[in-house]
This record gives sequence, structure tokens and C-alpha cells, in this order.
Amino acid sequence: MARFHRAHLQRLLLDSLPDRVDLQLRKRIVSVRVKSSSSAADEGVVIGFQEGTTVEADLLVGADGIHSAVRWAFVPGHAPRWTGGIALRSTFDVSLVEGISGLPDDAVFYAGHDRNLFVSRLGRNQFTVAGLLQFDPDDPQGLFRGAKWNAEGDVTQLRAYFKDWHPTARALVEATPYTRVHPNLLGAPLEMMVFDGRVALLGDAGHTHGGAFAAGGSLAINDAHALALALAHTWPTGDGGRPNNRHLAEALAFFDRTRRPHVNKLIEIASKQALDRQRRSQASGTQAESDCWLRERVSGLGDVAWLAEHDVESEFKAVIGSEVTTM
Ligand SMILES: Cc1cc2nc3c(=O)[nH]c(=O)nc-3n(C[C@H](O)[C@H](O)[C@H](O)COP(=O)(O)OP(=O)(O)OC[C@H]3O[C@@H](n4cnc5c(N)ncnc54)[C@H](O)[C@@H]3O)c2cc1C
Repeated sequence: MARFHRAHLQRLLLDSLPDRVDLQLRKRIVSVRVKSSSSAADEGVVIGFQEGTTVEADLLVGADGIHSAVRWAFVPGHAPRWTGGIALRSTFDVSLVEGISGLPDDAVFYAGHDRNLFVSRLGRNQFTVAGLLQFDPDDPQGLFRGAKWNAEGDVTQLRAYFKDWHPTARALVEATPYTRVHPNLLGAPLEMMVFDGRVALLGDAGHTHGGAFAAGGSLAINDAHALALALAHTWPTGDGGRPNNRHLAEALAFFDRTRRPHVNKLIEIASKQALDRQRRSQASGTQAESDCWLRERVSGLGDVAWLAEHDVESEFKAVIGSEVTTM
């Protein structure tokens, strides 16, 4: 398994873009309209941007994150909600922790009753420390209520949360130079990840699972892979010109059938886990979890091979295979 800092992945993607791609930054989508026209020459999707410009396209890939404006255009009212989870996260040079006794080579998840700590080496000599905390999302006076994504956090607070923990964990939070606040949101599974044969939702836009299983990066990449496979299947390279309605509608249907069952299964599990965490946190003052319960809970978390080893290419082949046999 590979872990890396988001900025390094973005640089890699940027460096891989073909020259013909016209990348425009700071363009915020505010509206989306699929044209309904009887003329093939006048079909497509119109995307409106905040500064008043518009773009017309054959296909809109909405990969605009958990607060997706593209999703909102097709599923108005679908708003992810704060689970009460807060991650205090940072990424820094591994040299800051290199001398710590017991520094793990691989990632370690330290589990506690009402908080967890995740630490891991990342690619390119980076190291990450994430303190994962649970609060009551319905408490109007609650700490971190209304917290903004990536807001500056208080590293002394992070250290205080883990001051009685295992010596290696403690040394790691002591060496952590800063922290930033990341609230965890969760939304309902979508009934469709594609719309009107012209729009697909990818990544957090298409599945609002928040930080569950720290899987969002790989899920988003697999979404993109599935869409690329589907388009290559229905609109093979070499077909000059523009894709027609059939190419796009079939590709989007294959994409949706490849990805939606998988990501929605994750959301169902994440929702149940979020509720369990909230209940435990609310009960911590009255009926606190014993160490014995904690061990049982962690060992009962179940096998996540279905997620970590999910093979999107096999899934896609199964989807198009079932299409052929049912025709
Ligand atoms: C607490 C927490 C911890 C997590 N930890 C991990 C982890 O360890 N590993 C992991 O893989 N995942 C983790 N995740 C999940 C991960 O952050 C996301 O799943 C992943 O970033 C999704 O990628 P994305 O490209 O779909 O969306 P994003 O990374 O959110 O990117 C969306 C992009 O769309 C742009 N955008 C937004 N609105 C508009 C608009 N209206 N118009 C145009 N552009 C717009 C944004 O500027 C941004 O560039 C975590 C999530 C949380 C909440």
C-alpha cells in the first residue's frame, strides 16, 4: 500500500497532462444545465462559472468534492452532515521524528475509547500524524462545532489529547510541529452517480463517505479509472470527432454500475460506524467502555480486504460481461 502527501499526487497528475489540455484554475462552477435539443449539433451540457462565463461540453465530470456544486444541480438538498468527528492532522518532514524510539516502519493505528491516533510514513520523506476525536454533533456548545476544513489547529491541544498514551505515540505528538482541523462529514448514498447521459460524479462528489477508512483518495482514482474504461469501451480511441448520445449514455451506465454498489456499501458501513462512535462518546460519562470492550470492538472491526483489494478492472469486466449475457 502506498501513502503520499496530496500535493505530490497533484504534481504528478499535473506533469502527466497532455499539452492539448487547457487547464484553468480558480473557475468555480455555480450552475449546470443539460441541453435538450432535437439537433445533434446542439446537444451537450452548459457549465456556468462564478465570474459569469460559461463553457459548453459533451460530458461533465463532476469531481468537485464533498460539497459538490455539480451534485447539488442534480440532487438538490443532498447535504452531508458533520458526524462529530474531528481529525487534527499534519504532514511534515520525517527527520522531525526519525530519532524516536520505536518509530514504526509502517502505518500504525492506535485505538482508544473516544479517540484514535494514526501515524504513518508518507512518500518523499514525509510523515503524517492524525489525532481522530469524537464529539457530540448535536451539542450546540460543542467544541469544534462549525469548524472549517483545514483551519489552523492548536498543537498543544493535540498533545494534551494523547498525553497518557503509549510512549511512542506520545513522542510523536510531542514532535508534531503544527496541526490543522478537519471535520468529518457524511451524506446519504446516491441513487445515481450519472445524470441525463451527460454528467458523472466522481470522488467525494459521488460518494460522501468523509474520512471513512482513509480510502477517499484511492476511491476517487478508481472512479476515474472506471470512467476511462467505460468511455474507451463505448467510444474506442480512433473514433474521430465527438462522442454521440449512445457512446456517452452507455459509458455512464457502465461507470455507474461498476462504482455505485461498491461506494454505497462503504457509505452504509461508515454511517453505522459514525453512529456507534457517537453513542460511545455520549455514553463515556455514564457507562464508559472498558479496555476489554475496546479490544473486542477493535478485533471485531472485520476484514476490509473487500475495500483495500477491490479490483476495479475485474468489476468493470463483470459489468460489461453481464450486459453481454443479458442481451
Ligand atoms: C478527516 C478526514 C481524513 C481523511 N483522510 C484521508 C486519508 O488519509 N487518505 C485518503 O485517501 N483520503 C482521506 N480522506 C478523504 C479524502 O480527503 C477525499 O476522499 C478526497 O480528497 C476526495 O478527492 P476528490 O478529488 O473527490 O475531492 P477533493 O479533494 O475535495 O477535490 C475537490 C476539488 O474540487 C474543487 N471545487 C470545489 N467546489 C468547486 C466548484 N464549485 N467548482 C469548481 N471546482 C470546485 C476544489 O477546489 C478541489 O480542488 C479524509 C477525509 C477526511 C474528512
